[in-house]
Amino acid sequence: MPLAYDPAENERFWEKVRQLPGFPQGEEICLRYMLIESNAIYRLKEALTYIGVRDDQPLLAVMDTTPMRRGEDDLKALVLAVLQHAGWEVETCVLEPDSSGQVHTDMPHILQVKERLSPEKAVVSVGSGVVTDIAKHACYLFDQEQGTHLPYLVYQTANSVSAYTSNMAPTLIEGVKRTLASRYPDALICDLETLRDAPREMTIAGVGDLLAVFVSMADWYLAYRLGMDETYTPLPELLMGPVDELLIQNAEEIRNGSLEAMALLAKLITLGGIAMSLSHATAPLSGFEHIVSHTLDLQNEARGKSLALHGTQIALATVLGAAAYRIFLEQFDPHQLNCESCYPEPEKMHRFILQTFHPLDPTNRAGEECWSDYRIKLEKWHTVKESFSNFLLQWDEIRPEVAKRTRPPQQIRSMFAAVGGPTRFSELEPPFEEVEVRFAFLNAPLIRKRFTIGDLFIWFNWDREALWRKVWETTQTNHVR
Ligand SMILES: [Zn+2]
Repeated sequence: MPLAYDPAENERFWEKVRQLPGFPQGEEICLRYMLIESNAIYRLKEALTYIGVRDDQPLLAVMDTTPMRRGEDDLKALVLAVLQHAGWEVETCVLEPDSSGQVHTDMPHILQVKERLSPEKAVVSVGSGVVTDIAKHACYLFDQEQGTHLPYLVYQTANSVSAYTSNMAPTLIEGVKRTLASRYPDALICDLETLRDAPREMTIAGVGDLLAVFVSMADWYLAYRLGMDETYTPLPELLMGPVDELLIQNAEEIRNGSLEAMALLAKLITLGGIAMSLSHATAPLSGFEHIVSHTLDLQNEARGKSLALHGTQIALATVLGAAAYRIFLEQFDPHQLNCESCYPEPEKMHRFILQTFHPLDPTNRAGEECWSDYRIKLEKWHTVKESFSNFLLQWDEIRPEVAKRTRPPQQIRSMFAAVGGPTRFSELEPPFEEVEVRFAFLNAPLIRKRFTIGDLFIWFNWDREALWRKVWETTQTNHVR
């Protein structure tokens, strides 16, 4: 099945995408060179020249310390050699891991890169999601300060997250992940041999991050119908096409690491990043499943543990979200709802949030950071009473629209298993106990201003303990229904 929108077609791609409903007309998009093919590594010169980098412009190559291979070669050394051979003077900026052994997207790393920038340089990042986000955001801050636009090329080293082509950067602020406005790269290089030789777990994680759409698109649509988010457009769904069918058809090839499957996955991931960017929101690909995952990360960070691979954790959180949706769609009855009791007191929620996150951060900084975002959502909820009553009246029409954007939890689980992904939280690295997953499932809505299905369970006064038990039982025990 060919993609309706193939990012590797570049000009033709943008021409078609511009016709989609919801395209932000008049907006300038610097991402104009996407090369997704075998041996793309040897076309770096062409790519840099295309985006206007002169031969005499010094290049800053941003990377971390992770050893990477491409066939027999050391990948990073090869990239540097190709650039030097093409005549460029290349400096490197190496991002060091923190005490957890990992590099995180945080301000110290972003500033480390930014300090190395100057108006005559061009930037090449060689890495996966985190390295890309750090380099991208450093360029963005520099551009903003200097009123310039540094040429920036992303050399994607794994099909691991849908972030390479996004104009946003998820960044740790006070220990909590926040999505900051950032910029597009000018060029994206997906060398299929590099993607094939990346650790298999990273490819699996990339599939996991895509599976998020089966919860996030439903959340976004629900938010739109409730009046909680006006940014909704059908663009991301149209752009990405039938993600489930594409993944099911290509599962075996993805598992075997064929170059064709690497190209397909790279393209879907690219479309995901572009879908978010054109919507000016991560919402189309980041809903309840992402906040659950962020709350799992928050617990690991507080305990000084490393973080599980983002997309893999997302896939498992998506299964939980899909189970929650199934229960909601089956059981929600607008006639049984007491609308008056759907508005928790702000003071009560503030106390509840501080109390909830206190064990993770006794200074209450994380709790206050969560409240500062949550209160925006709660205030908004109080102002959309009219949309809410329309929502209740129109539920019979809304329900199938929401349902068609989700999938049964067991289907998501088997799609992920088909590419070699784990199906249980205990199989993640580091593994999670039920109590931690329960904490994330129940409290995820408290960390973000973004509306998700999780908010409705709180505002509609559901028995969330009972809900959790049912979700856990449906998704993590052997007898999956
Ligand atoms: Zn993600």
